[in-house]
Amino acid sequence: MAAQPEQASILSFEEARAVVEDHASHLQPRGRELLAVLDAQGRVLAEPIHADRDFPPFPRATRDGYAIRASDLENLPTDLQIVGEIKAGGTPTGLAVQSGQGVSIMTGAPVPDGADAVVMLEHTKHAGDHVQVTRRVAANENIVAAGAEAKRGDKLLSPGVRIGYAEIAVAASVGRPRLVAYAKPRVAVLSTGDEIVDIDVPPGPNQIRNSNTYSLAAQIQDAGGDPVLLPIAPDEPARLRELLLEGLEADLLLIAGGVSMGKYDLVEQVLAELKAEFVFTGAQIQPGKPVVFGRMPCGADTLVRETDSVAKYFFGLPGNPVSTMVTFELFAKPMLEALAGMPPRKLVFTHAKLKSEIRTRIGLKRFLPAVLSGEFERCEVELVRWQGSGDIASIARSNCYVVIPPDRERIETGEWVPVLLR
Ligand code: AMP
Ligand code: MG
Repeated sequence: MAAQPEQASILSFEEARAVVEDHASHLQPRGRELLAVLDAQGRVLAEPIHADRDFPPFPRATRDGYAIRASDLENLPTDLQIVGEIKAGGTPTGLAVQSGQGVSIMTGAPVPDGADAVVMLEHTKHAGDHVQVTRRVAANENIVAAGAEAKRGDKLLSPGVRIGYAEIAVAASVGRPRLVAYAKPRVAVLSTGDEIVDIDVPPGPNQIRNSNTYSLAAQIQDAGGDPVLLPIAPDEPARLRELLLEGLEADLLLIAGGVSMGKYDLVEQVLAELKAEFVFTGAQIQPGKPVVFGRMPCGADTLVRETDSVAKYFFGLPGNPVSTMVTFELFAKPMLEALAGMPPRKLVFTHAKLKSEIRTRIGLKRFLPAVLSGEFERCEVELVRWQGSGDIASIARSNCYVVIPPDRERIETGEWVPVLLR
């Protein structure tokens, strides 16, 4: 009799997600690398980034106009004498604004001594060496004080942030052409199934091309990992076992297919024979109910190499392509992100108005492919037509998932529904 997972359990979506986040919070990235700032895009920062000077380093004019004394503008219009000009990059040495004077100033230029505000060009009339000011400004208006954004030495970025364009701007602004980032986790992808053929092979009439390996590889790359693509595993224990062991050499193993109740769904059985520990063997969701999460403990009596000092985690994702994609997003992604160096985070949902009613059955939390549309504040969402979780083209037509709680069988047009963006 084949070994069965001992701790088999089916959790609610919330329980399953919480348990994954908890395991993720104990993971460590593999190492660090020094990368050119643009090569670090999409990586996770492994060092704090500090301000190397005050930001801004000088009191900065935020408008083109005249640097003046706000107290000079009590009676309008007021005539001021222009005593100089400062452009961005200029030095206001020797310039000091006295009462009754103004200095012509450009956006990004340092405000000269004596001035405490900048009046916008639009509120002035220039004539010879005088300017007539027609609008009052408050003290400090249109000036950012030196050090107001950050003081030299302040921490601007913390380790664990994903490096995107804003983080790259911060690195550039403190003079960092290179950044220390965490190494990308290697994530093995193993698709299973006797009917699955690879994409460069002409499929027989009853065969299916392997899309899961490729969608998962793309999701892994998006989430900051390096996919390691394994050959397709047949529904046969010996070869499946070999490929599972190969996959367990990576930092995380994703198996697609072979986790349902069918006679040839062998993944759990073979993993159990390899002494895997199962954290859960299903979640009350649709699509993706048979999702499996577990780990292969390390140590002399297990098959994980002893050089690996940590347990290796795996997911068994249901093989229906939409289920594979959704369960990756809901469960595998936080593990991958943790291995990439990010602290685990909660899933973020937005809300949108339902464009046409949904009828379904109670019992499972559903994540249904949908299209979010509308303009400006009028956000609407509608399910895409689909033939179930095998319908790859339908998910490609969608841009989000509508989330339906397990106790609702009818959601009316016009109701606000939670939406998970993709
Ligand atoms: P399974 O989870 O193995 O029971 O597979 C469920 C459904 O997904 C079946 O219709 C499979 O043919 C299909 N499927 C499984 N693996 C893949 C794959 N790698 N690419 C595309 N479809 C797949
Ligand atoms: Mg199968």
